[in-house]
Amino acid sequence: MKEIIDNVFNIQIPMPKNPLKYLNSYFIKGKNYNLIIDTGLNHPEAENILFSAIEKLNFSPQNTKLIITHMHADHSGLGVKLNKRGFEVWINSFDGEIINNPTDWEKMIEFAKKLGMPLDRLEEAKMGHPGYRYRPIGKVNYNDIQDGDVFDLGNFKFRIIHTPGHTQGHMCLFEEQKRIFISGDHILLDITPNISQWKPNSRPLQDYLKSLKKVRDLGVELVLPGHRRIFSDLKSRIDELFLHHKRRLKEVLEIVLDHPGLTAYGVASFMSWDMDYKSWDEFPMGQRWFATGEAQAHLNYLCEQGKLNFEENLVIKYYPN
Ligand SMILES: [Zn+2]
Repeated sequence: MKEIIDNVFNIQIPMPKNPLKYLNSYFIKGKNYNLIIDTGLNHPEAENILFSAIEKLNFSPQNTKLIITHMHADHSGLGVKLNKRGFEVWINSFDGEIINNPTDWEKMIEFAKKLGMPLDRLEEAKMGHPGYRYRPIGKVNYNDIQDGDVFDLGNFKFRIIHTPGHTQGHMCLFEEQKRIFISGDHILLDITPNISQWKPNSRPLQDYLKSLKKVRDLGVELVLPGHRRIFSDLKSRIDELFLHHKRRLKEVLEIVLDHPGLTAYGVASFMSWDMDYKSWDEFPMGQRWFATGEAQAHLNYLCEQGKLNFEENLVIKYYPN
């Protein structure tokens, strides 16, 4: 546990066998009440670390609220357990409903079929998805947070900013006086946040780019991200992310121009990935699912821009326009 600035603590919660390495949970000691931001996976090692930090700092259900930036299992995994011990849980309802609705996985599998994922390996993909394996079990009795809500701790005043993209209900927190920005997985320094389309009728990349613009000029001085290193220059990092997606869009467009009639899964197999596997064939199914969702988010954007067309039968196939 590290006190980053007065009354703001960072607890690194390990994520076993995951390229993200650990989740940054933040504990903020307030005059009126305390906040915990994000929990780590529903995994015994994570649970021990989180609960010993709670004990050490004397945080209790009577004086502490938990805010979950978004529904992913590394951020929300222990939300149910904290809730059961009496902690108030706050999350946006888009994401809260997904946690509380297990049939959502079946809808995602249906969509994965449309994207061309191999039918005989969908179960393997589901079991290999960390979001499935370490998901919170049970329902969270949560309070809905909305854009503009304020958490006034006395010594800190955090405003909630809705930043859809990484998930539909993703929320960041901004302390205007102290210029602190808690970014969740909206903006990370060392890795590019995963922007994937998991379901039909969503446009995550379009949402994401809009949400980057929304926070670019807040005048932030300290960024507390959900993973890896804490940093200060939010604006430059956002500009890098814009450039990253511009390059990704170009890459995806070129793949479809070279190989018309590919599915999103096929496009993903041709994309470059910063992973420790020699070839696409070595990617575990769970990782292929992430890659396919990311390809699809970019394909969706290019279709909306009129640069690509698609044909929708049992699987969706993409063609140059
Ligand atoms: Zn996430």
